[in-house]
Amino acid sequence: MEISSRTLVQSRPLNSPEAALAREMIEASRLPDGYEAQLQTDMTAFPKRWLERFKENDVSVAVLKDDQTLADTPILHALEEAQIAEIVSRGKPLVEKAVEEIFGPLRGHPDEDYQKYQATGILQEKIHELSNQTNLGFTAEVGREALDLGYLGGRMGFDPTYDPESFERWKTAFTDINEKLGQVRDGVFQPRDGIYIVPYLMYRGKTARALSLPSYQQFKGLDFQNNLGANFPENRLVILHESVVPNPSSRAGKHRVALHELGHMVDWICKELPETKDTHEQKVNQLYRQGMQSNSLITDRARDSAGEMMAEAVEAYLTVEESDNFYKPENHRENLQKSFPELYNYVDYLINLA
Ligand SMILES: [Zn+2]
Repeated sequence: MEISSRTLVQSRPLNSPEAALAREMIEASRLPDGYEAQLQTDMTAFPKRWLERFKENDVSVAVLKDDQTLADTPILHALEEAQIAEIVSRGKPLVEKAVEEIFGPLRGHPDEDYQKYQATGILQEKIHELSNQTNLGFTAEVGREALDLGYLGGRMGFDPTYDPESFERWKTAFTDINEKLGQVRDGVFQPRDGIYIVPYLMYRGKTARALSLPSYQQFKGLDFQNNLGANFPENRLVILHESVVPNPSSRAGKHRVALHELGHMVDWICKELPETKDTHEQKVNQLYRQGMQSNSLITDRARDSAGEMMAEAVEAYLTVEESDNFYKPENHRENLQKSFPELYNYVDYLINLA
């Protein structure tokens, strides 16, 4: 794919420090040739200081294919051995304490089994809360039947035949963390109280925290087909559908969706920057009211909200007019400056903050 910088007010070569900063933010796998380089080029429309700010704020720009979720990108880090050891050594006493707190008073009760059965949901919730608070990420599963660990391991993504080493390591961690919750004999786990702990699991060849995997998997490439991109400022996360990366792209033409989504991130970060935190929100709301009253907002998207206005304005500020562009052809620097100079001036101030 040919790399184009024609839409951008400025860009840096791939061997520049700016492009290196951009590359560190990109989380993608199996992208076609040139896609990462195009995205890096787009992101270098921002001045270096802003790329550094994104980095300081741990902003990630993930690119998803239709059949991928966020869990398929390098944003999901494989667990290291020390982290697995930590899950067991720190998790085990927490779990045992929770079990004692909730099941302890029920032991010896005439209908102990029924009472425990009733309380299992509460215990499971409590264990997940502890796991979440400590970021250890183990989960508790409910089950009274004896469990073949080869079978359970398979369900957790391990392949005892193909990768026996990973499976054995997991089995050891499982046996250790569940020591007081049941007994392992001949590769079969017999739960004592109808609950057991999954210390971690394997997802597509990568060890992962069981509790956090679903939150990565909920970001699905297919969902971004219609939206082109999205941003999750609380998670410092921008997601782009892979189809919007080429320039031009069949979906968004020469317009650069990455700059719009990172525009949201600029808006968000300005709410916390020492130079702008006291005034930013008020200023943006005032500009939005003014823009709506005087009809100076140049795209429909910008009229949706003050936040969309800012994202569109950042995108416009960083791009130039392009011939035969079918997607938001009006959203470019010259038009922003002419149509709404107050907004242009404010974005100019923000983007050039030292
Ligand atoms: Zn937006």
